Amino acid sequence: MSRFDEDICSAISRADGNYFPMSPDITMTSSFHYETYEEFLEVSLDEKNNYVYTRGTNPTTKILEDKLALLEGGEKCKVFASGMGAISATLFTLLQAGDHILMLNTIYGEAVAFAKYLEKFDITVDRVDIDKTSDLVGHIKENTKVIYFESPSTQKFQLLDIEWITNFAKKRGIKTVIDGTWSSPLFHKPLSHGVDIVIHSLSKYIGGHSDIVGGAVTGKKDLLDAIFEHGHQSLGATISPFNSWLAIRGLRTLPVRMNHLDQAIRIVLDALSKDSRINHIYHPYLSGVSQQELIQKYLSGFGSLFSIDMIDDDFEKLITFVNSLNIVSLGVSWGGFESLVLPAYKGNNLEKLAERGLKTSHMRIYLGMENPQTIISDIQQALDIAYGKDN
Ligand code: PLP
Repeated sequence: MSRFDEDICSAISRADGNYFPMSPDITMTSSFHYETYEEFLEVSLDEKNNYVYTRGTNPTTKILEDKLALLEGGEKCKVFASGMGAISATLFTLLQAGDHILMLNTIYGEAVAFAKYLEKFDITVDRVDIDKTSDLVGHIKENTKVIYFESPSTQKFQLLDIEWITNFAKKRGIKTVIDGTWSSPLFHKPLSHGVDIVIHSLSKYIGGHSDIVGGAVTGKKDLLDAIFEHGHQSLGATISPFNSWLAIRGLRTLPVRMNHLDQAIRIVLDALSKDSRINHIYHPYLSGVSQQELIQKYLSGFGSLFSIDMIDDDFEKLITFVNSLNIVSLGVSWGGFESLVLPAYKGNNLEKLAERGLKTSHMRIYLGMENPQTIISDIQQALDIAYGKDN
């Protein structure tokens, strides 16, 4: 093997600064090297703001982080290998032994499971259902250090009065964390209402094509630096630069996709709300007066994830309904092109459903990018087969 061959194989980047790609480079490297020992010492002292090792920082991921920080109106963003990577790193950093975390309404289940797992480190958790935001006061403890919520919430899609929460929390030195995945960073700007940390699963709308898993945490620099140091560096949920690049690509079409879904979801919900075989639809668009006030205050558009309960809880009918859908696929996650259904009942989790106030026939539906009329027809034909014709 010649030295020339070795040089080619070493693939050291020699960008000459004379090209301007439409799409950013993917810096697919695990580590970085330096001309001098002094340079290495300098960057090693501040790994969060330099490139040393991709488990910490990477130029492609940095492009994504800077874009997300700008979108949220935050000082800094850190991207993770998954939404759960982002959530666990945040709670791991913010909480310590003896602290209490209050989780409001129906939060993404795995986030609650993680918080409950922290009980072995002497951190206590309460997940409570509240209708009125101010009801949270009754659940605050002397040692409450974090209030964690989604607005709208998973499964029931109820909004909370965010400014009420942040005003209350600030007076008591409590940090507030919101998972804003449902609205995307386009339709909801929680940091502008005083929230300390906003989290997104990039696996949903931002990725947008069901082909990546990722997460993001955005907020003030001091909090983000702490989350980098402890939650990201130590737990190691590092996103691949290629997935960061796919998320950057997803961002380019996010406004067009979200605007489409904002319109399409209204069409689908208008049709389904007239259907006698559906007992209840959970989505802010169909909510009552007090929720409408919160929508006006906080949301500039609607996400397309919603839930339904059927007129009865007959499991056989539910199975027939799900199996009769032709366009809407059965599967977890959401935010991509394809519409999806996910029944809450897994055959062995009645107790968990009761705890979350969900009926056996509760199903989460994600409206994807297909023509909304196609999805309405698909749901209606499956309802015809499982529950009989609408009257
Ligand atoms: N937050 C919400 C609202 C979710 O639906 C999910 C999804 O699965 C997560 C967080 C977790 O994100 P990820 O699957 O990227 O870990």
